[in-house]
Amino acid sequence: MRKQIAAANWKMNLTLEGAQGLLDDILKEAVQPGANQQVIFAVPFPYLMMAKERVTQQGYAVAAQNCSNKKSGAYTGEVSVEMLRSIGIDHCIIGHSERREYYGEIDEILQQKLALCLDHGVTPIFCCGEALDVREKGKQNDFVREQLEKALFEFSGSEMKKIVIAYEPIWAIGTGKTATAEQAQQMHAFIRSVLAEKWGLDVANDVSILYGGSVKGANANELFGSPDVDGGLVGGASLNASEFIQIIKALKH
Ligand code: PEP
Repeated sequence: MRKQIAAANWKMNLTLEGAQGLLDDILKEAVQPGANQQVIFAVPFPYLMMAKERVTQQGYAVAAQNCSNKKSGAYTGEVSVEMLRSIGIDHCIIGHSERREYYGEIDEILQQKLALCLDHGVTPIFCCGEALDVREKGKQNDFVREQLEKALFEFSGSEMKKIVIAYEPIWAIGTGKTATAEQAQQMHAFIRSVLAEKWGLDVANDVSILYGGSVKGANANELFGSPDVDGGLVGGASLNASEFIQIIKALKH
């Protein structure tokens, strides 16, 4: 059965002290994830070990926000998947729209990162989603299908089952504009249909598809209530303890 996931994406925010304080405030509430639920904190690299030590006891996981597309070697400033694995990190966001836009991460690079994650037992949280102009032209399904085809279609069905997808319409990220529950459900059902076409229903039904784009405490229940929305990848609201706790509580059981 696929997992219902609340994943926090802190991006490039918080000092060490702020990060520790935020985690402690969330942990104080002690919301226990159910058997099919998962809570993940994607924190900046310098805080990975601290976060892991703090949240593991509560049954929460920690993710990196990025990794290198190279295995190892002379790549100054890069962090390899093997390094992440060696400190016990088993999730990594891949292909966030900010990385695609500001760091030139093209499909080929994303495919390499995904392959390295899968080789090392790290679960990728693969992001896709269209910009506003694409949606205004009604081309969002074609656009997302192409992103999925280019990054994911080389993998086998059993590999696909190990990947989490996050649908994040760019027009909704950090803008306060959220997709309606209906828009999210439509796209998630479409993504699942693409997975089913390629790998069959068994694989498609096993993949968690998260929604990302201005999720907050007040809209999480409605968004996560849709049958194909398996939780959220949350930026801004994940920096606020009470907002993120509300979001965790909104996950389906
Ligand atoms: C994100 O960056 O993944 C995101 C969804 O951000 P926000 O929740 O702030 O829109």
